[in-house]
Amino acid sequence: MRIANIGGRLSLIVDGAGIDVEKASDGHFAADPAGIYDRWVEFRQWAETGVSTAAEPIDEDALGAPSPSPRQVFSIGANYPDHAEEAGFELPKVMEVFSKFPSCIVGPNADVPLPKATVDWEAELVVVMGTSARHVSREGAWDHVAGVTAGQDYSERERQMAASQWGLAKSYPAFGPTGPWLVTPDELADPDDLIISCSVNGEIMQNARTSRMIHSVPDIIAELSAVCTLLPGDLIFTGTMAGVGFIRKPPRYLAVGDVVVTEIDGVGRMQNRMVSA
Ligand code: ZN
Repeated sequence: MRIANIGGRLSLIVDGAGIDVEKASDGHFAADPAGIYDRWVEFRQWAETGVSTAAEPIDEDALGAPSPSPRQVFSIGANYPDHAEEAGFELPKVMEVFSKFPSCIVGPNADVPLPKATVDWEAELVVVMGTSARHVSREGAWDHVAGVTAGQDYSERERQMAASQWGLAKSYPAFGPTGPWLVTPDELADPDDLIISCSVNGEIMQNARTSRMIHSVPDIIAELSAVCTLLPGDLIFTGTMAGVGFIRKPPRYLAVGDVVVTEIDGVGRMQNRMVSA
């Protein structure tokens, strides 16, 4: 199953077109995409019974974040060996976790205002939780996931590198685009091995398989849920791979007019244009 936020309305995606969930369910499910994760099991059962309402073409400019107001946004640092190496990060002894503040979460094709000349890209697989999760085992972890989507963990490197806490540098408005839609794990041949890429103005900057992660999605959910209760609709940015801008010689940062395309095979594609703040 694929679901999208189209103009703030929850929609099922069928053959590339959208079905409005509130209308198709006669109001049983509300239009607001944020609320569906609290009813995820019930919603999946309803969606799987087959919905007969006609699908409408999708306006890609109207796509919002699949989970637009998560209560918690977790981000994993240094989770690909090649990125940790290029950035000179020592591999952490415990899983490195920080937060992006939820106000930075926007849709897949949002414009990104550049607050400084030191903004960088980080393509990431983003997990959306479908149930509460506490003390979850690795084996059971995917059962708690609503689905996955693409994401960018845009980062203002000057502030990030000047601080030991990274969250604020990664939370400017529109620094957390996600989308284009949510894809349930059963739609993917292997949800632990997805091809992810990022280009800037058509030049490929990052390209990796998520199977390279040091901490896999099940590892991350097991470890986070050993500490916190993960809540329906929460996001987990699972970390970026080699090829970010700040380690290049000379460093390469984003400029007004640049277009960043982030794509995960079998999931979808996002496109962000950099604009002046
Ligand atoms: Zn990141």
